[in-house]
Amino acid sequence: MDSNYSKNIEKAYHKIKNRSNKGLVAKYIPELANVDPSKLGVHITMIDGSNCGVGNNLEKFSIQSIAKVLSLTMAYNIVGEKIWNRIDVEPSGTKFDSLLLLETYKGIPRNPFVNSGAIVICDILITHLEDAKEDFLAFVRELSDLPDLSYSDTIADSEKQTGFRNVALCNFIKSFGNIENDPAEVLDFYFDMCSLEMTCQQLSQTFAFLANNGRKITDGTKIISKMKAKRINALMLTCGFYDESGEFAFRVGLPGKSGVGGGIVALYPDNYTIAVWSPKLNLHGNSHKGMELLEDVTTHSELSIF
Ligand code: GLN
Repeated sequence: MDSNYSKNIEKAYHKIKNRSNKGLVAKYIPELANVDPSKLGVHITMIDGSNCGVGNNLEKFSIQSIAKVLSLTMAYNIVGEKIWNRIDVEPSGTKFDSLLLLETYKGIPRNPFVNSGAIVICDILITHLEDAKEDFLAFVRELSDLPDLSYSDTIADSEKQTGFRNVALCNFIKSFGNIENDPAEVLDFYFDMCSLEMTCQQLSQTFAFLANNGRKITDGTKIISKMKAKRINALMLTCGFYDESGEFAFRVGLPGKSGVGGGIVALYPDNYTIAVWSPKLNLHGNSHKGMELLEDVTTHSELSIF
């Protein structure tokens, strides 16, 4: 690990740690509101495997929508380019759980990272896999080298009680014929998928394949083709932060993905993956301090894709 990286990260951490935070912890999933809002962690993994972090970087948190990148990776591998017949690749300019554009585009979600798109991905996985829930978990365990990784029943059950907008989204898409399976089964899998928990360290290591042309950095296993990795990164850059994707590209300059648990993972192809966690969210549902910290890191290191 180049010591400049660790110094840079430590500096950014201390600077952001002491700032006030106007964000709010997500409460619409009751269990997420039980998290200590002052947590802050960051971890960087270089593609040579060296890594370092600071703060609460070794504490698990709910990765929520960050898991949508992993379900897309699995579904894209299975169905190939045909996947884009069911989900578009355009930024939505709307909140993550918006129903608005589904009417206009006749049940075709704008991209795989808004909830509607991720719900269609879950439907695709259910159609093609024997047991989507188990097979997806096995895929992520292999990808992350975390054989004990499992869904959090507490978080999934909490969201199952209150996920009314997602129920509406799934049924609405079904009315246009873009959900093949029983909506209850699709939603059940979607909520489980969002309930995965990881630390910043684990997250930065799990996503390293996308900074490494689709191959795991630990043993070189091919997870996805180079071309598909490029496209997933393009989608993270343009759609990873919903109606704040432009702002993230402008301020941070990296492809990335956020989750309402307060996590963000971002990557610089051929270089590194970085994960941050701070539970308080801004109005767009993205981690307030997480974005500030990443902005600080890429501004001072001058290492972004632009
Ligand atoms: N499970 C959350 C939801 O569906 C995921 C949203 C997010 O992380 N942006 O609302």
